Amino acid sequence: MTESSAAASCLFCRIARGELRSTKVAESEHALAFRDVNPVAPSHVLLIPKEHVAESAAALGPAHGALLGELFALAARVAADEGLERGWRLVVNVGPDAGQTVPHLHMHMLGGRALDWPPG
Ligand code: 5GP
Ligand code: ZN
Repeated sequence: MTESSAAASCLFCRIARGELRSTKVAESEHALAFRDVNPVAPSHVLLIPKEHVAESAAALGPAHGALLGELFALAARVAADEGLERGWRLVVNVGPDAGQTVPHLHMHMLGGRALDWPPG
C-alpha cells in the first residue's frame, strides 16, 4: 500500500482530517493531541503527527527529528494543562507484542494516578 492510500483509510489520519470525531486537547503545526476513547488512566491523551509519516516508531530516523521534538513539546504542554505535576508517562507501542492496534505513529500520554513499573 502506498503512503497516500494508507492515509485515505487510516483511523488516525481520518481523525486528523476531522472526518471522525475526537475530543481534541491541543495541537501544534504538525501534531495533534486528543483523548483516547478507551482511557486506562485519568489522563490518557494520544499524540499523533497530523500526516501519515510512519506506521510506527520502527520506521523513524534522523529526518523525523523536528517532528518528534514537536510531539514531545506538545506532550509536555498537555501534561502541564492537565495538571500532572506528580508525573506522567509516554508510551509508544510497536507491533503486536506491544499491543499496537493503529498503524499510524502515536504516543500515549498517561497520568493522573501512580503508574506501575515495569508496565505489563
Ligand atoms: P495502540 O494500541 O495502537 O498503541 O493505541 C491505539 C489507541 O487508540 C488505543 O488506546 C485505543 O483505545 C485508541 N483508539 C482506537 N480507536 C479510537 C478512536 O476512534 N478514537 C480515539 N480517540 N481513540 C481510539
Ligand atoms: Zn494515518
